[in-house]
Amino acid sequence: MDEEIMGTWQKALEELKNETSPIAYRTYIEVMVPRLVNKNTICFTSPSQYHMEVCKTRYLDLIQNTLKFLTSIDYQIVFEAKDAPQDEQITEFTDESSSSKSSLSKSERANLKVIKDTAGLKDRYTFENFVVGSNNRFAQATAISVCNNLGVSNPLYIYGGVGLGKTHLMQAIGNHILEMDSSKKVIYCTGEAFVSELIKAMLNPSMNESFKQKYRNVDLLLIDDVQIIAGKDKCQEEFFHTFNALFENGKQIVLTSEKPPKEINGLEDRLKTRFSMGVSVDIQTPDYETRLAILKKRAQDERYIIDDSILEKIASKVKTNVRELEGVFQRLMAYSKFTNEPLTDAVVENAIESIIVANTNVMTSKLIMQVVAKFFNLRVTDITSDKRSNTIAFPRQIAMYLCREVADMSFTQIGKEFGGRDHSTVLHAYSKVKDGYDNEPDTRDLIDDIKKELEREN
Ligand code: ADP
Ligand code: MG
Repeated sequence: MDEEIMGTWQKALEELKNETSPIAYRTYIEVMVPRLVNKNTICFTSPSQYHMEVCKTRYLDLIQNTLKFLTSIDYQIVFEAKDAPQDEQITEFTDESSSSKSSLSKSERANLKVIKDTAGLKDRYTFENFVVGSNNRFAQATAISVCNNLGVSNPLYIYGGVGLGKTHLMQAIGNHILEMDSSKKVIYCTGEAFVSELIKAMLNPSMNESFKQKYRNVDLLLIDDVQIIAGKDKCQEEFFHTFNALFENGKQIVLTSEKPPKEINGLEDRLKTRFSMGVSVDIQTPDYETRLAILKKRAQDERYIIDDSILEKIASKVKTNVRELEGVFQRLMAYSKFTNEPLTDAVVENAIESIIVANTNVMTSKLIMQVVAKFFNLRVTDITSDKRSNTIAFPRQIAMYLCREVADMSFTQIGKEFGGRDHSTVLHAYSKVKDGYDNEPDTRDLIDDIKKELEREN
């Protein structure tokens, strides 16, 4: 925790240096040492009571504003002096009243757990566990402000690539709201679950009514990966009505998606408009410092003793998203647990490689399937299906061939990605297409066209 505040303070110092005279900066500001007392309070230790008084009267506001500018947190600032009598020193405290969770009795906490489970929320996804960096600072601050003003910015729309913390942040809102007031009705639901529940409800009139009741009577509705409803007419229609019902009653809606509303293909215009009505925030890929901070926090939380140099290595090599970062971390932790041996360079490299390679392959095979499906006017689900008609089997074989040629995937892995086919099926498909490519000009042209398409999409 203190490390985090030190990082923030370093940044604050850079700002403060520009805001104060060089002498004042050196004499009063640079010499203070910050320490986090609780979530919202920072205590600065000054070299003497005299220093402390000067800081308090001249620089308190400036420091507070600078920290707020950098972190969006309204820190309470207290000072202590190194030369103050011991009993006047401020000690660390966990303020029971400021943390509703810690003030709960055992049974209340158990109840809260049940309520969260029912709402679809995971305990781990809290604001406390969410590391703030330049990639997500605005999103996090907005999420907190939505918690404090439920129903005012509607909807909150969080977008960004996979594994960057959208679900975590969205769930943190739900968890926080329930911790403050467990009587609030919160539902977390993936777009996918929403769709499948709706389809069931449509087939059964009594369920239809309870579906409406369920989703239209909440204080906070969290729909994760909402882009999945695009192109599904009935779902969009129902969601439109759910949205309006909640919106009109001032109930909070939070949505996440890969993309901003206007870029979601197949999303009805009226939903694009609705989704853009409130506040949209994006989460970017984390920079090195944030990646390292996330790893350090994980290690601390898990009480896993691991060299900083190893965490630095992971942070510098795993760049794309937080999920991969955690994947590598978890592998190493498992390794340490099972072998009880120190981590060697080779083990670390290996963990990094395997996570990155596996993910790149999954992404590439998905892309290949998408491009091939589009080329032949099919759906991706046709490609992975069992259907054997030639109109589908041939494109499927081409897609498998490309996974081998372009992405260098193993036959076994290709089989896995293509709906669980075995190694020999993939090998057969590959040989057949390769033969066509080598011997039939038409097939060669066709495949070259698809390859070009693939390059454009990549
Ligand atoms: P998304 O929904 O954007 O695909 P997730 O919210 O599922 O991403 O995040 C992937 C993993 O990374 C989760 O385990 C999450 O807790 C973790 N994570 C993401 N961002 C952060 C962060 N800023 N601090 C701590 N953990 C994070
Ligand atoms: Mg997610």
